[in-house]
Amino acid sequence: MTSWPLLLFPLWMGVAKVEIGENYDYAEEFGKIITRASIKLQEVAPKRRFKLKSWNDSLEKTAQAALGMASREKPEVIQVRLDEAVQNYDQNSFAILLKAILASSQQNGKEANRFYEEFLLKSRTFSEFEQTFLKWGEFYFLRRTVYEILASRGVSFAGREKAIHMRTPYEQLILYGTKPGGWDRLMNIVFIVLILGGAVALVFWALAGAQFWEVVPSGILGLYVAVWVSYGTWIFDLAFGLPGGLSRFTVVPIFFGSMTLLFVISVVRHFWLERLRPLETGYRRCPHCHAVIEMLLIECSSCRRKI
Ligand SMILES: [Zn+2]
Repeated sequence: MTSWPLLLFPLWMGVAKVEIGENYDYAEEFGKIITRASIKLQEVAPKRRFKLKSWNDSLEKTAQAALGMASREKPEVIQVRLDEAVQNYDQNSFAILLKAILASSQQNGKEANRFYEEFLLKSRTFSEFEQTFLKWGEFYFLRRTVYEILASRGVSFAGREKAIHMRTPYEQLILYGTKPGGWDRLMNIVFIVLILGGAVALVFWALAGAQFWEVVPSGILGLYVAVWVSYGTWIFDLAFGLPGGLSRFTVVPIFFGSMTLLFVISVVRHFWLERLRPLETGYRRCPHCHAVIEMLLIECSSCRRKI
């Protein structure tokens, strides 16, 4: 096994002092992904499966450099391999990322930042090259982590957001799968409870004889549909992004809030109108629940109380 030293990678990353602002807990994951990618590189590089010789060479040099880093070879030796890897294929963003980590390990923060930025610029597409040793989610995770490392070091992308930005279908969804944000995690739980709990409750309610054409039951059925629409909007935003830069965190609450308000208004209006309805002859109102009942009844047909 030539790849066993790669298991030391997280340790090495620790030495590299990937310093990140407070609240940062990606460092471990970052190291794990790089270790996994490096192990995979050892496996795929010897196969030389690309049509372009330069790509195969670049992959091979990257694999050697990764192994060198994990087995703590001299930085100068690793540096040469990474330079060659980039010379062979200048879009090899992973080699640039390793360069940044190497510079960081030598306490060369400025150079590390420069390579991290270059990595962000060159990794905007997940090409056939990276696909041989990285999963899509891992690739995006590395990008996000590097972005956050730079942000924590005060490197601003104001005005340059477009240059590094990559809006690819499913990017957010994959990020959600890899590392869900607090609010997304909460929304997911709320949706699961409302959708599954709502379905069970509606079935029991129907079995208990709910009249779904009446105001309250039909309104609640409508709200249940609104939960599904909200859920769809949320997933759509995660997958493709809502148009016009809208955020799921504003659209979903506004939509669901308006639906609830509409429900409350229509229920209040219904009971208000019911109360004001003029009575036909032979009818009167129950003094307890205000339901319209026949004059002769001595027990309300609605609330079952004696009159
Ligand atoms: Zn009554």
